Amino acid sequence: MASAEEPPSRGWVLWWAYLLLIFGLSSTLLGTSAVAIVHGHLDGSAGAFVLLAVFLVLSELRPVMASGSYDPDGVSVSTAFVFAIMLIWGPAPAIVLQFVAISSRELLMRKQWWRVFFNAGQYAICLGAAAFVLNIFGLQPAMRHPHLFTAGSSVAFVAAAVVYHLANLLLVGFILSIRKGSTVWAEITDEFWYYTSTTMAVIALSPVLAVVAMHSWQMIPLLLLPLFLVYKTASISLEREQQALHDALTGLANRKLLLASTSDVLDDLQLNDGRVALILLDLDRFKDINDTLGHPVGDRVLQVVASRIKEAVRPGDLVARLGGDEFAVLLRGLHDDATVNEVAERIRAWLHEPISLDGTLVDLDASLGIALFPDHGDDFDQLHRSADVAMYVAKASGGGVAVYDADKDTNSLARLGLLGELRQAVDSGALGLYYQPKISLATGEVVGVEALVRWQHPTLGLVMPDDFIPLAELSGLMPRVTDSLIDQAHAQSAAWDADGLRLVVAVNVSVRDLLDHGFAERVSAALARHAIDPAGLILEITERRLLADFERGAKVLAELVASGVHISLDDFGTGYSSLTLLKQLPVCELKIDQSFVSRIGESEADATIVGSIVELAHALDLTVVAEGVETIDVLERLEALGCDQAQGWLVGLPMNAETASGWIAQHQPDATRFAVPRQDARLRVGAATATTRATTAAAITTAAAARARTRP
Ligand code: C2E
Ligand code: CA
Ligand code: CA
Repeated sequence: MASAEEPPSRGWVLWWAYLLLIFGLSSTLLGTSAVAIVHGHLDGSAGAFVLLAVFLVLSELRPVMASGSYDPDGVSVSTAFVFAIMLIWGPAPAIVLQFVAISSRELLMRKQWWRVFFNAGQYAICLGAAAFVLNIFGLQPAMRHPHLFTAGSSVAFVAAAVVYHLANLLLVGFILSIRKGSTVWAEITDEFWYYTSTTMAVIALSPVLAVVAMHSWQMIPLLLLPLFLVYKTASISLEREQQALHDALTGLANRKLLLASTSDVLDDLQLNDGRVALILLDLDRFKDINDTLGHPVGDRVLQVVASRIKEAVRPGDLVARLGGDEFAVLLRGLHDDATVNEVAERIRAWLHEPISLDGTLVDLDASLGIALFPDHGDDFDQLHRSADVAMYVAKASGGGVAVYDADKDTNSLARLGLLGELRQAVDSGALGLYYQPKISLATGEVVGVEALVRWQHPTLGLVMPDDFIPLAELSGLMPRVTDSLIDQAHAQSAAWDADGLRLVVAVNVSVRDLLDHGFAERVSAALARHAIDPAGLILEITERRLLADFERGAKVLAELVASGVHISLDDFGTGYSSLTLLKQLPVCELKIDQSFVSRIGESEADATIVGSIVELAHALDLTVVAEGVETIDVLERLEALGCDQAQGWLVGLPMNAETASGWIAQHQPDATRFAVPRQDARLRVGAATATTRATTAAAITTAAAARARTRP
């Protein structure tokens, strides 16, 4: 069992005192052993001694460890040789040889000097204790009078082995307990059976080695095979443990190990002050790489990312892959928060360097979220949640690094919980469409409907799109959501067609969808599947977000229009598109954003804006729709301004398919149009002020109907 990392910030007096005690004791032992060697003559076979010593040093240089791990769990087959030497020639050469072997290995591993001395020193003390036990049993082997191991020495040997092992557990357990502020008992019992069984299996071979060495040392190499098997078994069991805690693709720690390490580090910090940071990292647009270049390339990109992150942090910091393209870094021993930001920025900068794979350059970017202990959480779950929120904030603002900020954490719990459930909802068909009517202001007739997604959640009830569409976009779920909604809208459209209702159905698509590979083809395929006239479909795209990636977006829009689909620019007025841009876009409709519409009654400026949008649209031969029409006053003003169509609570609320069908049937021009049926109040259930709005709606639709009737 090997030990001890950094000096603790609390309890360091005890820690140093203990180190000094170990240094003192082991130096004394080493000194006396060295003197004994200098004054002693080696009796017995020199060949046996040299062979055992060589094997001792060689095997110490190769301690038992899983491949890829750098910190051995302190079991080494060299103990068999050490013990064999001690059983024959006494503790002096064993102590010196073991000290030299261990310290050379640790120095080669570039450990701190005090760590080297502690580890090598405590083993010297353990050997000293074992020799003392042999002594009690009357066994006093020495260089001058080597001991011939016999059956009668077995009890002494077992006692010495047990004491050696216990001393090792206690000496190391004690320093770990000071550092972690835990109990010695807790440190000893940790992995007790693994250490005990492997150590004992190794030591058990030492009497055999001793007997063979004394009788015919040339046969010592024969014993290497069983020793090697012990070594191999221990390595394999460590290897298995490694695999359970590591990600196979990148070799990084997995979620389980990250959780365990974070908990360990935080436990330590309950007793010693200090700060810890958890950084979560998610690659931007990794899905595109997988989709366009294939999974094998995606995997290699992840491996490169893993090694770059590792290079960007200190060797002691834990880097983990949590799945997919999500990584985490645990930084400990932080002295100030600025360091965390530096590390995060450095990781991002390193990832930003294009990756060259077989001549193809892959550009990467990442969003990183930082959570600090203790400010943003005092256990792994809380830190992880905070870092996740921060990462979400970073991503929403276009990538980069964000530190957790409680102010931006509005209902984050709900949001994070929702993500997992959203995936299932898409598969289980829990996302459905509501339909909100659009009427012609000139005739009052229903010209179409806008399909609006709703999530029927088992416990939360109806979840609105603003609460989950951004999540779907960030998590790469959006293409599946949109495909399924377009399919539903088409099925409904076909059903209305069959009932003789010719309605244009507007479906909202996010710009993310538009930029998704093969979107236009998928839309055409869906139209063909349901045998729908493309002219019956309008895709609504938010103006502001389209401008963010205008060129690519415009290209896909052109493909869609070529297949006969109509495009509407949603939330128009919020994106400041110029006339030039507007002319380049193949759209047929502008939807004036509700923020302007709702204010035209009160604000002259807004009325002017709406008026100019109407004029502009008409100059470009586009239809203008006003959305968010809530009052008669607004409706009348829109009509006066020459707006073509209106949509809003005043006209009709978003309704499920069945209710919408009934509503439309009753509002068709040839039916008893707009003589608002009494159940309208029921149709509007679900809206906040259902009754008042229903009353106004009844009034306005009656007014619109009256106007429509008096028109030529
Ligand atoms: P949007 O496209 O601007 O949709 C209009 C929103 O205004 C809808 O909110 C609608 O219910 C609401 N609304 C309708 N009449 C009135 C009114 O008189 N007053 C007020 N204040 N609001 C009214 P909803 O359904 O919550 O949708 C919000 C946004 O979510 C939509 O804004 C759209 O951007 C997005 N969305 C909805 N469904 C989908 C979808 O299927 N796919 C995508 N990508 N986005 C969707
Ligand atoms: Ca819309
Ligand atoms: Ca809108």
